[in-house]
Amino acid sequence: MMTIKPDLILIRFGEFTIKGRNRKQFERRLVEQVRRVVSPFKTVKLIQTFGRLYIELNEESYEAIAKELKHVFGIVSFSPVLRAEMELESIRERALELMLSCVPSPRTFKVSVRRVVKSFPHESQAMNHLVGGHVLRAMPELKVDVRNPEVELRLELQPEGAFLFTDVVPAAGGFPYGTNGKAMLMLSGGIDSPVAGYLAMRKGLEIEAIHFHSYPFTSDQAKEKVITLARRLCEISGVPMKLHLVSFTEIQTSFTQCNQDHLIITLMRRSMMRIAQKLAEKSGALGIVTGDSLGQVASQTLSSMNVIGRTVDLPLLRPLIMSDKQEIINLAEEIGTFATSILPYEDCCTLFVPKSPSTNPNLNVVMKVESFIPRLDEMIAEAVATTEEIVLRPGEQHEAEQAGQDDWF
Ligand code: ATP
Ligand code: MG
Repeated sequence: MMTIKPDLILIRFGEFTIKGRNRKQFERRLVEQVRRVVSPFKTVKLIQTFGRLYIELNEESYEAIAKELKHVFGIVSFSPVLRAEMELESIRERALELMLSCVPSPRTFKVSVRRVVKSFPHESQAMNHLVGGHVLRAMPELKVDVRNPEVELRLELQPEGAFLFTDVVPAAGGFPYGTNGKAMLMLSGGIDSPVAGYLAMRKGLEIEAIHFHSYPFTSDQAKEKVITLARRLCEISGVPMKLHLVSFTEIQTSFTQCNQDHLIITLMRRSMMRIAQKLAEKSGALGIVTGDSLGQVASQTLSSMNVIGRTVDLPLLRPLIMSDKQEIINLAEEIGTFATSILPYEDCCTLFVPKSPSTNPNLNVVMKVESFIPRLDEMIAEAVATTEEIVLRPGEQHEAEQAGQDDWF
């Protein structure tokens, strides 16, 4: 790792660079996002060239900006870069400076040269020796290893300048936020759905969240918990996010009265889906994202998912479907939702949980039970109509959340 202050950060874009037609739009969004995260750092300057983005650091701290860049969707990796004059002596000097700053001090290295400026007097191969030889003379312990070097010293001769770097820092990857359309995220207070939302956003989906509550059976704190989770997602994307709060009390109560305890969760999920689809239509969203993970609980067997999914036409997106719980927990910790998710407030699905929920519900039976529930369609329409909508904005605290926080900690 290099330890001197870099002059610039070189940012590498993701997979979307190959998508031709959309590339311009992706780049614009990405630059917008980078501009947003660097906006508190007053002296930085963005330099945009073909397929590349540099941040000129000036007075600002590399570490502070790097921390932010790691979370920008669409950035695959970035490198702290030293700038040299476009002439051999300056390049040699800076190359040595960079190698001497590497911690731990490398035993082996190689030089790679990219000479975009063809007018530069030395060819790539020659530059390789001219720079490498200079470093080797000053660092006698160091050896060249072209196959598996501990450090790769890269030199790029670009029209914008001569750039040197050794580190490539991985970032979030994916697509810039909102460049792949919009979907509704079914956001419970659990561990999984915020992670599913994160993964969906990382793939460039704009997200609106939907949460079902059974107030007064579920508490205000349960609602605040979901607001906190949604807010965290919105902090990550850096873009305002809508949260739809749906009252599920009446529907849920009607299910508890039909003496089909083992089917309650299936019935609830089906109605949630219907409501989510209606809200999606209103919002112009083209998919529904859930935190389902295959086999995790009764409602997430293939058989249950089949019966639940039959209620809607929109694509159901389940980013965690093949992930194990521990992998999901690790991601939840990484994105900062885990501590909130494990707060103990009741979710509407943990209320009245049956002793043995069906893992293999029968579609015909479920539809029959639904047909006996009075006013189900009306209740669904009512739930949609009375949905409360909150807009969360990055960097602001929700009033209710502030009020609720004292109770939490
Ligand atoms: P999570 O950790 O996301 O709550 P879970 O393992 O507890 O998931 P379930 O409770 O079976 O699983 O929920 C499966 C998915 O259904 C959730 O990931 C979420 O997308 C959706 N869901 C469940 N309850 C709600 C709710 N109250 N509001 C919105 N979506 C919900
Ligand atoms: Mg849950």
